[in-house]
Amino acid sequence: MRQDCPECQRLWREYASATTTHVGLESRLRQSEQGSASFEALTRDVSAAARVRETARQSIHEHESAAHAAGGDTAKFDG
Ligand SMILES: [Zn+2]
Repeated sequence: MRQDCPECQRLWREYASATTTHVGLESRLRQSEQGSASFEALTRDVSAAARVRETARQSIHEHESAAHAAGGDTAKFDG
C-alpha cells in the first residue's frame, strides 16, 4: 500500500470494512442455531460478505499492478 496514494487508501479502507463485516457475520453465524431461519439468512449474508471481501482484495491487486508497476519505484501507469 502506498501511503501517498488516495486510491490505495480508499481501496484498503473498503477491504478493511469488508473484512470487519465478514468476520462479524461469521461470528454471528457460529452463535446461531443451525437450521434456524437466522442461521440460513446469516449463511447467505456470510457468502455475500465473502464475495465483497474477495472483490475488494482483487481490486487492490488490480490497482497496484496498474498504478504501481512492479519494482517499487515511483513509476505510475498513466496510459
Ligand atoms: Zn495506489
